Amino acid sequence: MKKIAILGSTGSIGTQTLEVARANQDLEITALAAASNVKLLEKQIREFHPSLAAVWTEEKAKELKTMVADLDVRIVAGMEGLLEVARHPEAELVVTAVVGMIGIRPTIEAMKAGKDIALANKETLVTAGHIIMPLAEECGVKILPVDSEHSAIFQCLNGENRRQLHKIWLTASGGPFRGRKKEELKNVQVEDALKHPNWSMGRKITIDSATLVNKGLEMMEARWLFGVEPKDIQIVVQPKSIIHSMAEFVDGAVIAQLGTPDMRLPIQYALYYPDRRYLPGDRLDFWSLNQITFEKPDTENFPGLRLAFDAASAGGSLPTVYNAANERAVALFLDRRIGFLDIPEIIGNCMETHRVIDAPTVEQILETEAAVYEMIESRW
Ligand code: NDP
Ligand code: MG
Repeated sequence: MKKIAILGSTGSIGTQTLEVARANQDLEITALAAASNVKLLEKQIREFHPSLAAVWTEEKAKELKTMVADLDVRIVAGMEGLLEVARHPEAELVVTAVVGMIGIRPTIEAMKAGKDIALANKETLVTAGHIIMPLAEECGVKILPVDSEHSAIFQCLNGENRRQLHKIWLTASGGPFRGRKKEELKNVQVEDALKHPNWSMGRKITIDSATLVNKGLEMMEARWLFGVEPKDIQIVVQPKSIIHSMAEFVDGAVIAQLGTPDMRLPIQYALYYPDRRYLPGDRLDFWSLNQITFEKPDTENFPGLRLAFDAASAGGSLPTVYNAANERAVALFLDRRIGFLDIPEIIGNCMETHRVIDAPTVEQILETEAAVYEMIESRW
């Protein structure tokens, strides 16, 4: 039995992780955490029998306690509750599938408690990669990527000497607005941006895919996971999302990982690494696929990607500003309070006015996040 805890069990990655657990008899769920979806969490508790579950507010915790009063499960709340799930004594591996920088502290807590991390929450590495990667080494725990591109690179590096990695080719679908110009992007609606051509994901990351900010965050995530400089990460648009990313080695050899777009594969790979398990579902059919095409990313009409390289090159607290400004701008866009093109505009504005802190501590990262939120609140 492999014992796992899931942070963000009611979300897109969380529910797919539980699908993998449902299909395999040797995964035991010891603890779950969500923000407020107690209805789904109750169902999950009844099916998977964790001994601990966390929600964000005391009010929701009370509600959930009543709902599962007949079961042997302890309900906790707030950041303390989330941390308790992260360090749950029985779990060997923690899946970090919460959205946003809220993931930093529980990830650190889990590592300190000796847990391997199946990392979906990209914001943690983007903002605190300089803290997380050395800490993983110090604690002797693995960081196993769940993000499909990073899982692909991780798979390509299997058995290779990482020092001989020359370059990463990070693939991007281009999102629902690929090929459009700024003029045509001005008035796009929330519904249009939520229509991803290949992947079904949470709302925030779906908008990030439409702005290409997701690829910017993934570049920063890859930089920490694989120890490469931003300049050695090349984004390549491959609209059908069949090649999930590629590793180029010093001798010019390029190794790619391909598959149908299905997040259960990278999730399952992280849960069982280094083993592979049978996964039911569609397989690649090269005859009907016929061709795979490639394009350069359009940073002119999608400046969110260019800003990510600026943030990564400057480093320090600037990736936190990039991420926090984007988080808030996406929330405003989803609320229909700003337009689509205002998202990169706001990120750029926040980056310009920020005084970079080198190697920020977790406190400084969270302070920077709060300052960015405040600035956006006062201006937009
Ligand atoms: P969702 O929005 O679908 O789910 C987010 C989850 O986090 C929900 O379970 C939510 O609970 C929970 N959550 C939010 N805030 C808190 C909190 N304060 N305490 C506890 N739980 C909380 O997001 P996704 O699953 O799409 O994404 C999760 C992460 O994985 C993100 O960082 C994303 O970038 C990354 N990722 C996602 C991919 C995908 O295919 N979806 C692919 C690659 C990476 P509730 O339901 O109660 O609100
Ligand atoms: Mg991805």
